[in-house]
Amino acid sequence: MYRSHTCGELRLADKGKVISLAGWVQTVRKFGSITFVDLRDRYGITQLVFNESLNAQLDEQPLGREFVIQADGTVLERSNKNPNIPTGDIEIEVTAFTILNKSAVPPFTIQDDTDGGDDLRMKYRYLDLRRNAVKRNLELRYAVNRAARNYLHENNFMDIETPFLIKSTPEGARDFVVPSRMNPGQFYALPQSPQTFKQLLMVSGYDRYYQVVKCFRDEDLRADRQPEFTQIDCEMSFVRQEDILNMFEGMIKHIFKAVKGIEYTEAVQRMSWEEAMWMYGNDKPDIRFGMQLLNIKSAFTLNGEITAKGELLQGADFAVFNEAETVLAIAVPGIAEYTRKQVDELTEWVKRPQIGMKGLVYIRYNADGSVKSSVDKFYSEEQLRAIAEAAGAGKGDMVLILAGAEERTRKAISELRLEMGERLGMRKKDEFKLLWVLDFPLFEYAEDENRWVARHHPFTSPKPDHIPVMIGNNPVIEDAKHYLKHPYAQIKANAYDMVLNGNEIGGGSIRIFQRELQEKMFDALGMSKEEAQHKFGFLLGAFEYGAPPHGGIAFGFDRLCAILGGSESIRDFIAFPKNNSGRDVMLDAPSTIDQKQLDELKLEIRD
Ligand code: ASP
Repeated sequence: MYRSHTCGELRLADKGKVISLAGWVQTVRKFGSITFVDLRDRYGITQLVFNESLNAQLDEQPLGREFVIQADGTVLERSNKNPNIPTGDIEIEVTAFTILNKSAVPPFTIQDDTDGGDDLRMKYRYLDLRRNAVKRNLELRYAVNRAARNYLHENNFMDIETPFLIKSTPEGARDFVVPSRMNPGQFYALPQSPQTFKQLLMVSGYDRYYQVVKCFRDEDLRADRQPEFTQIDCEMSFVRQEDILNMFEGMIKHIFKAVKGIEYTEAVQRMSWEEAMWMYGNDKPDIRFGMQLLNIKSAFTLNGEITAKGELLQGADFAVFNEAETVLAIAVPGIAEYTRKQVDELTEWVKRPQIGMKGLVYIRYNADGSVKSSVDKFYSEEQLRAIAEAAGAGKGDMVLILAGAEERTRKAISELRLEMGERLGMRKKDEFKLLWVLDFPLFEYAEDENRWVARHHPFTSPKPDHIPVMIGNNPVIEDAKHYLKHPYAQIKANAYDMVLNGNEIGGGSIRIFQRELQEKMFDALGMSKEEAQHKFGFLLGAFEYGAPPHGGIAFGFDRLCAILGGSESIRDFIAFPKNNSGRDVMLDAPSTIDQKQLDELKLEIRD
């Protein structure tokens, strides 16, 4: 063995012991005839002292940063203790050392606050991984992994691997494909998820399955997505939605406890998709703070019943509101005092292309009870106060109002709400709020393709009450603009998402398990019988041999780790991530392949 102890292990109680350590040179400091070296490994840092007797060897073999050395010596009590590190009470008086390997000068410092930029650190990820900050993230990732596995194991789930070289499993993204040398002109698809396999495992009777598994989705990489990412993927048989919600609420709570020491004892709040959209404009609301929307005017209704408070705008001649499809407001606490400049800055903020609004209307509800607004000309003070109060504003608050097309405005106000929550410190990193969002629509209309697509995936079952609507004879949509009136728009799914602090961390559904309904689903999605048979014949076939009722869920493991680690970026929690253009800059992948490989695969590259 090169070492008797690790660099994080020795304490005052070990004083006098003769030991050996091995690791990387963090720093070298020379004071006259004494040299101090901080030696680092995965477990910590220990100070080594090289006395005069080793000077000659040090002169001959000088130590540099990141050299790998092995040192023998004796544990001494330090005269100058360092309370900041666990080994700070001791140091090692070195009696002999060996340089195991030299190091080139690293391109950035291996420290928490490194001088290396993002690109450089990605190129030399193996050095970046030596940094404490990154190491802590990987440790947290492993702790989450362990906690999830322990919980699932305790609950009789079985880890079963599923293949990567498969046929398309649609989750709404493009497939990554792999050419088959042995079957020229044919391709495997990498799984977007193990969805169909886990369902087949249910048919096979493995009634509780899980896997911590890679999924591959070739999508345009929006911020903080990775082309390959990891899911905690689970499936259960003989369950209803309630059973799944309880089981996985339990898993997340277990992870909170095991990883963060947090006792999340309260029941996870639940909300229907419609309520989430109505109250927050968003299907993954951050419920750590209020600022719920006031729907002053809206094409979107809650449960088809409660309509927007349109009366609040009546009788005024303000074309922007009168002509808008939607007018939505939030009351932001304590900012009535905002200066003109601050309001202008917020207006610019909503006009940015990412938000895409034409302007921002405000109502100040001043501390003295007076009301001042950018639309004073059009509305009486009573009207403005009524709007402010309906939005939940009190004295000292300011109401922000956006108007425009339904979807865009809803998205914009929900972004504005999050931004204001952030600015006002209402989104605390160490506060965790879970939420189940339920009853998603089964379908979404893809206007550009003029067809229905599955909102979750095509294996999700409709609510039992809605099955008759689905299998009934429904009209063809002539004009895409009117899709909201089609019966399909009203069908709700047995699907659920788990949301943590405004992030979707998991999603799943109760599945279709009868061949006829599954065929009907493919048909509704515009797939011909032949196409359905070609793509999913194996699943339809399996459903003929005693498929049990089943359902499941998958958690985004990388994101869950990032949130628990208090970070915005999943990349920080992946050992070897890709950059925002899907490249591995360390490997320089993707890259071209040899002509010989292309020939073997019978592939030709065209410009
Ligand atoms: N396969 C689904 C997904 O990746 C999760 C599930 O329905 O269990 O989102």
